[in-house]
Amino acid sequence: MSTFSLDPGPDQLAVRDWLHGFAADVMRPAAAEWDEREETPWPVIQEAAKLGIYSLDFYAQQYFDPSGIGIPIAMEELFWGDAGIGLSIVGTTLAAVAVLANGTEEQIGTWAPQMFGTPDDVRVAAFCSSEPDAGSDVSALRTRAVYDQAKDEWVLNGTKTWATNGGIAAVHVVVATVDPALGARGQASFVVPPQTPGLSQGQKFKKHGIRASHTAEVVLDGVRVPGSCLLGGKEKLDERLARARERAAGSAAGKASAGKGGSVKNAAMATFEASRPAVGAQAIGIARAAYEVALDYARTRVQFGRPIIDNQGVAFTLADMKTRIDASRLLVWRASWMAANQQPFTSAEGSMSKLYAGETAKWVTAQAMQILGGNGYTREYPVERMHRDSAIYTIFEGTSEIQRLVIARTISGMPIR
Ligand SMILES: Cc1cc2nc3c(=O)[nH]c(=O)nc-3n(C[C@H](O)[C@H](O)[C@H](O)COP(=O)(O)OP(=O)(O)OC[C@H]3O[C@@H](n4cnc5c(N)ncnc54)[C@H](O)[C@@H]3O)c2cc1C
Repeated sequence: MSTFSLDPGPDQLAVRDWLHGFAADVMRPAAAEWDEREETPWPVIQEAAKLGIYSLDFYAQQYFDPSGIGIPIAMEELFWGDAGIGLSIVGTTLAAVAVLANGTEEQIGTWAPQMFGTPDDVRVAAFCSSEPDAGSDVSALRTRAVYDQAKDEWVLNGTKTWATNGGIAAVHVVVATVDPALGARGQASFVVPPQTPGLSQGQKFKKHGIRASHTAEVVLDGVRVPGSCLLGGKEKLDERLARARERAAGSAAGKASAGKGGSVKNAAMATFEASRPAVGAQAIGIARAAYEVALDYARTRVQFGRPIIDNQGVAFTLADMKTRIDASRLLVWRASWMAANQQPFTSAEGSMSKLYAGETAKWVTAQAMQILGGNGYTREYPVERMHRDSAIYTIFEGTSEIQRLVIARTISGMPIR
């Protein structure tokens, strides 16, 4: 186990400076254009791939860094550059983490590299869980996976929504229900390989923020994938389903344990909980970027014969902005270190970090707009875009309300609704 440290070592500092250079020199200048175009910035992803910033190796190195702060440092710098382009660059990692967390070694070796492609032929991947009637309530998924034993194939049918990179991805990871009676415990994840017939892109969403990141519906119409595409394999799934059925049958025992917060968590929820600090770090990157613009502006903008920062009303706001950003980073680094060192989140520390960082980004970017006055409200200055981009951080990867629910259940041990 590594010691928790707030002092990044030379390796982490080198990565931070390298990514900061890319964020400042490549992402920032391109941010407004791709926000307006509302398209995936393929040339920027390609540039990132050529430099080694968009690659399985790079994210695996950060992910397995025992200090636990490799991923938050990387995310903060990239999202300081720009959130829409940042999500286009790191969106693939969501699908990659699903394969890393649930797949066999063979599946990881087969699919993870295909998700990124090569610097000359970059690819992206998509993780498809949400559905029109199953957002916060993941147990309500309707997409069905039925096993065709004669052909050793799985047949997927359903409609996914809100998928980052959905339809443009080479590899899609799809969560589907194998046994609807078991709710979340009856679900499994499947890889849909490139060019599989029956998978198509539905509506592409026009969004408020992170507009350079592609978000779309994914329609699965009789999609057939080989048995080997079930993440973790059939034997493991059958064992898991048998345990879940036993638990469902022993309803008295089930009811008794349902009141214990920890026991209602399934493996997928635990994985999400562990990935939340990374999402919190993205929000910190946006907040820090907006804070820096506002601080500079407040020092130079003169009204009533003095810089506006001379007014406590403005200076105290900046003091609160910086305090909340640093507090968010402390929560994110703590949770990330805990996850990297297999420390259980006994107080839902992962959710805490995402909740606080997401709310902070939305608040800080709103304050930045206010400090820039009329300029803050225009697209001549970046804080308007940063504010739009920040708003997703209280919605995706579990809304703020769902984070509060997870924290409240964990600290109380009660089945709070
Ligand atoms: C830009 C974008 C990208 C996304 N990317 C992906 C992706 O790549 N893959 C993927 O699978 N999904 C993705 N999502 C989906 C995202 O995770 C969901 O939108 C999110 O989980 C919320 O679900 P919902 O939109 O259905 O809202 P709902 O679940 O309908 O919630 C609506 C409101 O009700 C509140 N609410 C719901 N239940 C409760 C409760 N029990 N207690 C208190 N309040 C509650 C919510 O907090 C929210 O305020 C993305 C979404 C967006 C917008």
